[in-house]
Amino acid sequence: MKTIGLIGGMSWESTIPYYRQINETIKQRLGGLHSAKIVLYSVDFQEVEALQHAGQWEQAGLLLADVAQRLETAGAEGLVLCTNTMHKVAAAIESATRVPLLHIADPTAEAIKRAGVSTVGLLGTRFTMEQDFYRARLEDKHGLTVLTPNTEDRDTVHRIIYDELCLGRIGADSRATYIEIINRLVENGAEAVILGCTEISLLIEPQHVDIPLFDTTQLHAVHAADWMLR
Ligand code: GLU
Repeated sequence: MKTIGLIGGMSWESTIPYYRQINETIKQRLGGLHSAKIVLYSVDFQEVEALQHAGQWEQAGLLLADVAQRLETAGAEGLVLCTNTMHKVAAAIESATRVPLLHIADPTAEAIKRAGVSTVGLLGTRFTMEQDFYRARLEDKHGLTVLTPNTEDRDTVHRIIYDELCLGRIGADSRATYIEIINRLVENGAEAVILGCTEISLLIEPQHVDIPLFDTTQLHAVHAADWMLR
């Protein structure tokens, strides 16, 4: 088994499901008392969030490149960045280390294509929904058609992530709001929806909606565990 390095969070709320899912997948695949070889570096999300909202992506990239180097020094043979948004600085991380970064969008897109879905709704932070680093990878590399909510709905999705989910606040009102937004994506032609923020699955689960959901946290974590065993 290879050792995986987790760049945690960025809110620690979503690092927990990663840690659990990777361990559970290793246990499922190998049985017995097997568990995952993990090195974890969890950042201070307040610092990262300030850089994100100030548009200081270069600095954010330097910060995560430094974390990646520390994980490599600690024995990580591959890296998992436990957030969709910070894949905006994936190149900075990749150029700072010799070990591969397992990009979150790839196992997500592969699962969507396996399910025979071609038009998919995307929920995430405004950065993920509006900027090219994520959406373009799904569209150009994987040939998917990506739909995002309207401006007002994008603001709402973004606000709930930062003001609630990243603080561990899981509320019925916000769940209802997300379900309405998902329904509007379906009306616009989405055949499925990507939970493209690693905290959203704390709020929305498959039983809450009638449409298939692709949870990036779960797909990324299972992919990491399988990569460790390859
Ligand atoms: N975890 C979220 C994501 O997947 C947003 C918060 C963060 O920047 O990590 O995009």
